[in-house]
Amino acid sequence: MVLGCEFIVNPAMKLQRNIRFIVLAGAEDARLEGDDVVGKWAKHDKLRRIESKLPSSFLVRFLNWEDSPEAILRFARVHGHLLESPIPRKEPGDFRFSLEFWRNWRQSLRSNWESRMRAFKPPPSRPGVVTIEVSGSVLIESRPIAHAWSCDRSGLVYSCPTLYEFLLLDLLSIPRERLRKCPNPSCKTPYFVAENLRHQCCSSPCKHWVQHQAKLLWWAEHGRAWRKRRRKAIHEVKIRRKNHPKGDKQ
Ligand SMILES: [Zn+2]
Repeated sequence: MVLGCEFIVNPAMKLQRNIRFIVLAGAEDARLEGDDVVGKWAKHDKLRRIESKLPSSFLVRFLNWEDSPEAILRFARVHGHLLESPIPRKEPGDFRFSLEFWRNWRQSLRSNWESRMRAFKPPPSRPGVVTIEVSGSVLIESRPIAHAWSCDRSGLVYSCPTLYEFLLLDLLSIPRERLRKCPNPSCKTPYFVAENLRHQCCSSPCKHWVQHQAKLLWWAEHGRAWRKRRRKAIHEVKIRRKNHPKGDKQ
């Protein structure tokens, strides 16, 4: 099944459609079995509703999530499987995925974020799913699982069938100029949405690190010439003082 959703500003009516994304997620339990995470979906009435809102904190937390087995397990214990749906099951079902599967799908979102940051580049297609971006339209090829449209006072609401689809739509709906990756290579939370367009770093410590690096770079490039000019200026002052001692007016 192919679902097309377009984000349109109608120039004639000057009408911008508001679309929000939600997803239901939640697990009862999960455990590690070798390199697999095996878990059980939460019961229908225990599923939590996650909603897309700038600054996309859920997406950002997912992108910055550690990828150790324990951290991935922690994610699964709360949210379940990335690409399977907890609905429309009446009884909670089981899920299973490998640690590599989780890391690969997380990496695909990180790559998408980074390519959108730099310039328009459609993400590489992967078997079984996901996006094609064409001139502002998003096409999502989804499996035959529950998704639904509804509306409330603030606009249309799309209920995503899976966490991954929710995360992807959230990412695609963030204005591209607000996507950031912190330039500090040792930063633990490099992905963030810039609330202020001038912000390039995720935090003050990272900003100080970048400023320090810029200073080091400047000194490496210009330090020698600067020191030479300074030595020359000091030398000239000494010569002037020698030729015109204090009180000796010209
Ligand atoms: Zn940072």
